[in-house]
Amino acid sequence: MKASLPEINSESKNKPAYKASEYTPLSGTNLENKNESTYKASGCASLSGMLPEEILAAVKPDKPYRANQIFKAIQSGAADFSLMTTLPASLIKSLCDNFCVTSSMVAKVFRDDTNAGAGRKPENGKLSILLHDKNIIECVLLSDLKERKTACISTQAGCAMGCLFCKTGESGLARDLTASEIVDQFLFLEKEFGEISNIVFMGMGEPLDNIETLFKAAEVLNHKEGKGIGYRRMTLSTCGLADKVAYIADNGPPMRLAVSLNCGNQKKREQVMPIAKKFDLAGLKESLLYYQRKRGKRITLEYVLIKGFNTDKDDVKSLRDFIQGLSVIVNIIPWNRVPGSSFQTPSQKEIDFFVKLLDANQISYSIRHKKAQKIRGACGQLSSETHYQP
Ligand code: SF4
Repeated sequence: MKASLPEINSESKNKPAYKASEYTPLSGTNLENKNESTYKASGCASLSGMLPEEILAAVKPDKPYRANQIFKAIQSGAADFSLMTTLPASLIKSLCDNFCVTSSMVAKVFRDDTNAGAGRKPENGKLSILLHDKNIIECVLLSDLKERKTACISTQAGCAMGCLFCKTGESGLARDLTASEIVDQFLFLEKEFGEISNIVFMGMGEPLDNIETLFKAAEVLNHKEGKGIGYRRMTLSTCGLADKVAYIADNGPPMRLAVSLNCGNQKKREQVMPIAKKFDLAGLKESLLYYQRKRGKRITLEYVLIKGFNTDKDDVKSLRDFIQGLSVIVNIIPWNRVPGSSFQTPSQKEIDFFVKLLDANQISYSIRHKKAQKIRGACGQLSSETHYQP
């Protein structure tokens, strides 16, 4: 039986994401003031997304090495210039008068401690972050069985791509995030949940739509004087902007690439991913082949498994045809429930059947175990609505 797919509503495109001004906190869920001292209501020159040389150019301290000290302090989690005790008082005053560490602040912390043992931190968590212009974004902390932590970071407030299985796509795009706003998410997550080793740029938004800013933020997070997260521990996810896949093959840092494929059949893919009409599967495959020739890296294909839609023999056959000639691993993500959607999560029987077909066709795969679902932080569940209460 086929799932009935909702009509693509063109009016929802480019509708601004939820704004904090429209947000009524539930009782007891008011904004947490943890980093309020660094938050300014109007945009300020935030230093968290700058490299040491950019801080040097912006701040112009009398001694150039001060820029490095400021960079290190911010990346170590100093939320306020007054905490940077290695700096002279005159420089701290000048920084306070003219800059801010970050222009965003944590609005709410969600914890999913389902599997947390005594004395252990929660496995998964989510932060709602209030931006200086009152837009709200979300980012997620995911832990695996080895307790290795991964930050799932947003690159835009909302998203223009409108994938029908995704909550973020419902609200349209508000705007691109700045490098500072991208870096801040990582810093806030570490402060809340401890050291993080991996990053996936897979949260709200289409990362390749904000690519130069993303590269900049990644460079900051990679910097050896700061967090020093290796590029090989960063993954960039796209819904399939083929032209930009070719661009990152030529110009991007050596991050890993994930593509949200979901269907190997053009017509079906178009039904759930409007962008597939612009970048068809043939063009996408060409760009992935080019990427692989240039980078030689295995690509992850995300496959959101939707009950009754992309789970049968023909779907595996079209997937097999698409991956012919590519080195890929297919990441199976049983669809995560989004309120109001007509999609359904596949049963375990349906998942087992699909996986058997993958085995029979010798397709490499992994299955994304449900993570952060309880706090609506799982794949496709992020939104700008902070009024959700688990
Ligand atoms: S799946 Fe990704 S690209 Fe598609 S609407 Fe959601 S956030 Fe945007």
